[in-house]
This record gives sequence, C-alpha cells and structure tokens, in this order.
Amino acid sequence: DSDRLIDAEKRGEDVDTTLRPQSLDEFTGQAEARANLKVFIEAAKNRGEALDHVLFVGPPGLGKTTLAQIMAKELGVNFRSTSGPVIAKAGDLAALLTNLEDRDVLFIDEIHRLSPAVEEILYPAMEDFQLDLIIGEGPAARSVKIDLSRFTLVAATTRLGLLTNPLRDRFGIPVRLQFYSVEELELIVRRGARIMGLGMTDEGAVEIARRSRGTPRIAGRLLRRVRDFAEVARAEAVTKIIADEALTRLSVDSIGLDQLDRRYLTMIAGNFGGGPVGIETIAAGLSEPRDAIEDIIEPYLIQQGFLQRTPRGRVLTARAWGHMGLAMPKDLAA
Ligand code: ADP
Repeated sequence: DSDRLIDAEKRGEDVDTTLRPQSLDEFTGQAEARANLKVFIEAAKNRGEALDHVLFVGPPGLGKTTLAQIMAKELGVNFRSTSGPVIAKAGDLAALLTNLEDRDVLFIDEIHRLSPAVEEILYPAMEDFQLDLIIGEGPAARSVKIDLSRFTLVAATTRLGLLTNPLRDRFGIPVRLQFYSVEELELIVRRGARIMGLGMTDEGAVEIARRSRGTPRIAGRLLRRVRDFAEVARAEAVTKIIADEALTRLSVDSIGLDQLDRRYLTMIAGNFGGGPVGIETIAAGLSEPRDAIEDIIEPYLIQQGFLQRTPRGRVLTARAWGHMGLAMPKDLAA
C-alpha cells in the first residue's frame, strides 16, 4: 500500500529536490556505473555527438532519474522527461520526439509499460532518428517519414524481464544499479542532514542508513521523519537513541523491514512451512498486487539473504527464520 513509510516508489515529496545530487561527483555510490558513464559522456562530448541510448535497470529509488538528469547536465543539453504509462498514443511520443533538439536527453521512466503501438514508433526513432507515421485512414492513408534530431534516450525500468528483446537490444549502454551499502547510505544521510541544517551524530547516521533498505529514496524519507522527532524532542543532534526511537515507533525494524515485509515473511513461514510457495499464492494471501511484491518487497529480502526464488516457488532461508525469532522446521534446515 502506498502509505508504507519505506515504500521506495515515487511520491509527492520527490518534488522536494533539495537532497538530489547535481553532478556525477556529488553522486554517492554506484561506483562502477558512474565511472563508465563518465567515460561515455566525456567521449560523446569530445566528438560533439549524441550519447548512445542508455538503459538503467534496478529497483525503485536507487537514483535512475537522478542519474538521467545529471547526465543531461554534464552533457550540457536539455532534459525532457516522461514515463511509459503516460504516453498513451503514438502521437504523444511523436510530439515529444519532434520537439527535441540535437543531443538532448529524453528520459522515459518505466519504459516496460509502453504500449506496443508506441514501442513501434520508438524503434526507428532510436535507430535512424526517423519517425514513421501513418497519416489518415483507409485508402487515403499514407506513410510519412520525419527526420528527428540526434537525441539520447535514457530509459529506466525496474524489471528488465518485461522489456521486449528488440527494445532491449537498441540500448548501447545498459546500466544495472545495485542496492547501496550501509557506508554509502551513511554518507547520503550525513549529506542530507547537512543540507537540512540538522545536527547528526555518526551513530545516528549509521542507524538511519542500516534501516534504509539499501535505497537512497528511503534514506531521505526516514531522515525527514527522524528530523520531526528530533525537533519535537528539542534535540541538538540526531543520536542513535533518537533515530532508533523514531524508526521503531514508525515500525521500521533494525534492518529496515516494516509490517508488510513481516507479513510476507510470517505468512510464508506460518501458512506454507517456509515454502516453496508460488508468487500468485503470496499475492492473494497478502492482498497485494504481484508487481508490487516482485518490485518492492522481494528484491531487498533476496539481497539480504532472506529469500530464495526457486523454480518451485519462494523459499525462506535460515536467516529469515532467525530474524523473525522463529525456529526453522527440521526438514528445511537439513
Ligand atoms: P529512481 O528513479 O531510481 O526511482 P530517483 O533518481 O528518483 O530514483 O532517486 C530517489 C531519491 O533518492 C531522490 O530524491 C534522490 O535525490 C535520492 N538519491 C538517489 N540517488 C542518490 C545518491 N546516490 N545520493 C544521494 N541521493 C540520492
């Protein structure tokens, strides 16, 4: 549900861009992706050419949109932004594409949700910088070709598996983003506190970082909530105790799991003996859409070593049983 504090999906507060890094150097983490992008951006600039099309893949809140904006800035070009579900008709995309200037960045979020008709328009645009449009209907219909500026498509998806192969193949630069380490999130929290003018102890920053599910968007959200608690308590700085109290009260546990994660784990443990259990059964049991479970809940649990995806379904690991304080059934522990 969208009221989840640790939901990594975009929300209104993302219009608050004060915490958003503005350059590749200011961007913490994703060292490999950053190093590669730096080289490609530099090379494209030196040649005076548009950068190859870039595809960012990774769970929500890891910085895909932020990196796309930074790339446009570093390339010195315009940034135009839209998302898969927003582009309803081929004509909507055509309007966007024909408005681009040379070397501009067009960002399409959630590209796996483009309709097939819109995707058809995108192929020749990406490959030959041409629009193939059908004008009119019936016997009067004719096809026209329109030349486009040489632009860079930067696209983001949470689910590479939902992209069609021909679309996937048209990106010269695929970039997979990883969950952030606690150390990286600690830097992000400290930087955020500095920008907010909020006192922050090292231990306070670590506490927030450990509970941010490897995700900067969640780190920023927890930081804002902890700030509220600190201000009301008239604390000069966020200590470990203040951070812990605030986050515990908000039902975010010591490693960032919330009630929905716990419902997920306890349901597989209690109703299915730890699995294997199929995703549809889990979705029905939790009354949550399958997509949300696969995009938001499971990636972090898998990364934490709590969950395995097997051909027969999801299986809880010994770590998961341990975290829940439950004994692992003997036949599974073998
Ligand atoms: P995505 O597009 O992957 O869902 P965003 O780029 O919208 O994620 O980032 C989510 C939030 O996290 C933004 O508010 C952004 O400022 C912040 N953020 C993302 N990556 C970083 C980072 N490396 N350092 C600091 N803040 C970050």
